Amino acid sequence: MLWFLFSCAVKVAPLPDPLIEIEPFRQNVDWEEVESEATVLLQEYLRVDTINPPGNELQGALFLEKVLEKEGIETEIHESEPGRGNLVARIPAAPELKSDEKALCLLSHIDVVTHNEENWPQDKHPMSGTLDDDGIIWGRGALDMKGMGIMELMTMLLIKRMNIPLHRDVIMIAVADEEVGGTGMQFMVNTYWDFLNCGQMINEGGLGLKDMMFEGQSVYPISVGEKGNVWLKMWAYGEAGHGSTPRPNEAPQKLLEAILKLQNRPIEAELYDELQQLFVLVGDNKGGVYRNIMANPMLFNLLVKPKLMENPLTRAALINTVHLTGFAGENMPNVVPAEVYAVLDCRILPGVDPQEFIEDLQGLVGPEIHFEVLHARAGNASPIDDPLYSALARYAVEDEPNSVAGPVISVGFTDSIYARPLGTHAYGFVPILVTENEMEGFHGKNERISKEQLGRGVYKLYSAVVEVSAVQQNDEESNK
Ligand SMILES: [Zn+2]
Repeated sequence: MLWFLFSCAVKVAPLPDPLIEIEPFRQNVDWEEVESEATVLLQEYLRVDTINPPGNELQGALFLEKVLEKEGIETEIHESEPGRGNLVARIPAAPELKSDEKALCLLSHIDVVTHNEENWPQDKHPMSGTLDDDGIIWGRGALDMKGMGIMELMTMLLIKRMNIPLHRDVIMIAVADEEVGGTGMQFMVNTYWDFLNCGQMINEGGLGLKDMMFEGQSVYPISVGEKGNVWLKMWAYGEAGHGSTPRPNEAPQKLLEAILKLQNRPIEAELYDELQQLFVLVGDNKGGVYRNIMANPMLFNLLVKPKLMENPLTRAALINTVHLTGFAGENMPNVVPAEVYAVLDCRILPGVDPQEFIEDLQGLVGPEIHFEVLHARAGNASPIDDPLYSALARYAVEDEPNSVAGPVISVGFTDSIYARPLGTHAYGFVPILVTENEMEGFHGKNERISKEQLGRGVYKLYSAVVEVSAVQQNDEESNK
């Protein structure tokens, strides 16, 4: 049996060597000072009210613009609707170094979701930007995603101050309305794409999680793709009637049967390449027996997959989900309506065609049920074999032996989904480490980030950005 363990092991290629030696670009930065500066900037940014709705992102864009312009970085603000500001800041490549690589884009969204202030500590309310005695910065957007916005801002400032020799443009884009309609990014993509023309992009998506699979081990999932979404109304029809007399073929009963068919459909949990890579890397880092289990598809399917299917979060990552999210009908107790519908939020893995997916559902429920398509969009993914992906993975775990970085497909979508179809390689990764408890701040209460993680985040992001955008200068040149 043992031969089988080794003969079938899935191997993940090691990360390629860095494109340039990064240390010369980091050694002259006072990183403690960077942490303090980023902290103050984030506190101020959190206090700018960009709660969506209504958004008012122009205020956030003006805040960022003021910081960038003070340092001599060119910015533009474009409003997708009055008050919905979208900011672009560009540091151009040095003319004599310019390569034909398209720009590297650092994307964030300015808006934040609403909050329920009563659930937060009074002295650390969602708009406070409080820095507490433990070095924690509190406020709506600390994680999603003003914190990352500030890491991107600091990266821009450092590139400018250090006069980094760029061979490609580095662009910071901060957009409106990610949380509600995605109209800011769609407007920028539709109106200014020739100007932006991002070859690669860093955006939100994954972030490091302590003790994700094993205690003591941190996992940094880098989102390389996003599931698509198919939003449906599923209609059933029948004879209207009186509630006193149940009859066959009534609409609500037909709808119920269709729902049961969908819920009992055979589910094939698919361990797609990206996720398989992540697990192999996790097992490799953990070592011992785990290395073999994670790398062996048979053992993995036997021992690990059932566990993943039990947890709603990981289950959603493995399958095309069909999620019942609402119902509507006459809703009078004594009236049998002629038509009723259920609302379904389905999320499909990249590579699944939305139309074929809907046809499959139709096949399951039969021809009497009608699907009304509210929205259907395929998922998409960027390659793992990409220098930006490698750089993000490299610096995520630098000097952290019990940490591992690997690819995932996000179950939700971000603004990256609009850029990938235009040829951009987009990666979702906020280079910080949080606990499961801190994760609850995402769209929840007590959203916060530690000053230390913010500072380390800048360090990691700056390292990755410089690696893929700068030209190595030899000593002779730098001494000139
Ligand atoms: Zn977000």
